[in-house]
Amino acid sequence: MIKVEHLSKKFGDVTVLHDVNLEVKEKEVVVIIGPSGSGKSTILRCLNHLEVPSGGKITIDGIVLEEGANLNAIRREVGMVFQRFNLFPNMSVLENIMLAPMQVRGKTKEEAKAKAMALLKRVGLENKADSMPDELSGGQQQRVAIARALAMNPQVLLFDEPTSALDPEMVKEVLDVMKSLAREGMTMVVVTHEMGFAKEVGDRVLFVDKGVILEEASPEEFFTNPKNQRTKDFLSKIL
Ligand code: ADP
Ligand code: MG
Repeated sequence: MIKVEHLSKKFGDVTVLHDVNLEVKEKEVVVIIGPSGSGKSTILRCLNHLEVPSGGKITIDGIVLEEGANLNAIRREVGMVFQRFNLFPNMSVLENIMLAPMQVRGKTKEEAKAKAMALLKRVGLENKADSMPDELSGGQQQRVAIARALAMNPQVLLFDEPTSALDPEMVKEVLDVMKSLAREGMTMVVVTHEMGFAKEVGDRVLFVDKGVILEEASPEEFFTNPKNQRTKDFLSKIL
């Protein structure tokens, strides 16, 4: 579903990603962990071209990602959920979810609304359709953000530390939604510090440090028998 070959990214003179290679198969859940500033967000942002790579090749669902005509096609197929929910503050929950399907997919209002209501039900928020984002808790806003991403029927969902901005009591409700998506076969790339999620749901874990994928393993192998010294050091700090 995703193939990243020799991806590099520079900001000015500073190289923040070095020769990143990565494959994600359909229905796979890949978890990316690593220290702050290591390039995790930049990898995700390159995957949907929020950042333009400096080198390398990214293929998503058979489409090579490059400047030009296919960019909108890629953006439709790759949904993204951010740390800070990024809901449109002046629109209701329902309108937030309906917007892109109507504008980008050409859905009618009725179609978009029916789909939005079904998705709100799926994330447990069907009674919040007419609320404004600032009337919701952080956990509820993040679940709306997930519903909004799903409204485009993406092939892949990218999550960038989706629970890092949440109060602890709201983390579970968001992880539970993500777990159910994984069980239903959604292809997901998840940057997170939630090691419980990585162990339970991840098919593979990647450790990124200083813009390099240093280690890649099954969760079991990764957490019980890390190979790289920097992985060991990182795990010893967070576990
Ligand atoms: P992470 O998500 O792992 O914390 P990031 O991908 O956000 O790391 O950042 C990786 C590196 O790239 C950091 O050194 C960061 O300061 C730098 N960086 C990220 N975005 C930009 C940008 N738009 N301009 C300049 N430097 C950036
Ligand atoms: Mg980040």
